[in-house]
Amino acid sequence: MKTIGLLGGMSWESTVSYYRALNEGVKAALGGFHSAKLCLYSVDFAEIERLQHAGDWDATAEILSRAARSVEAAGADFLLIGTNTMHKVAPEIEASISIPLLHIADATAQRLAANGIRRVGLLGTRFTMEQDFYKGRIAEGSGIEVLVPDAAQRDLVHEVIYHELCLGQVKETSRQRYLEVIESLREQGAEAVILGCTEIALLVRQSDTAVPLYDTTAIHAEEAVKWALGG
Ligand code: GLU
Repeated sequence: MKTIGLLGGMSWESTVSYYRALNEGVKAALGGFHSAKLCLYSVDFAEIERLQHAGDWDATAEILSRAARSVEAAGADFLLIGTNTMHKVAPEIEASISIPLLHIADATAQRLAANGIRRVGLLGTRFTMEQDFYKGRIAEGSGIEVLVPDAAQRDLVHEVIYHELCLGQVKETSRQRYLEVIESLREQGAEAVILGCTEIALLVRQSDTAVPLYDTTAIHAEEAVKWALGG
C-alpha cells in the first residue's frame, strides 16, 4: 500500500471527513484491521484564510509548499490538497515536490465524464466559483460546461462556508438556501451539481435533493484510495 500525503486543516472540519473516508475506503477494499497509511500536515486555517481574503496567494503557496515538502520527507508517495480553493496554488505546490499530486478537479471531472454529465453546476467559495483555476480545469480536460450561481447566490454560498461550515456550524436555514441555489442551477440546465468545497457535504446530502450531487471530498478520497492500492 502506498502512503497518502494530505495537506489538511482547511478547514479541519473537512479534514475529519477526509480521514474517515480514506480509512473507510482502505477498510472496504482490504477488510479486517486494514487502514490507510497517511501523513497529514494540518495547517492553522486562520493564517490561510487571512491571506486568501487579503489576496496574498503567494504567501499561501509558500506555506503549503513547505508543508508538502514535509509530507514528502515523511514518506508520502503522492499528495492530496484537502481543499478545492487552495488548488489555486496547486501549480506552485506541485513544482516544489517530486511526488505526484492528485488534483481534486481532475478526479471530479473524470467522475462526471464517466457518468456522461455534459453540463454541471458548481458550488464553492467565491474564489472557486469565480476564478478559472478550477472551472477551467474541469472544462479543459472533459469539455463539460460549468455553470455557477448568480452574484447574490455566490455571496450566500461563500459566506455560509466561511462563517458557518468552517467553524463547525450546520444550520437548517442555510441548508434550505443551498437547496434553492441547487434548484436554480438545475433550472438553468445543470444535470448535476459539484459540491466544490470540502465542507459542503456536511450541510447538504444527496437525500436532500433529486439533483445528482458530486461531493468532491468523497470523490478525492475514493480516487486516493485507488492510487494507494495501486489501481
Ligand atoms: N474547504 C474549502 C474548499 O474546499 C474552503 C476552505 C478553504 O478556503 O480552503 O474550498
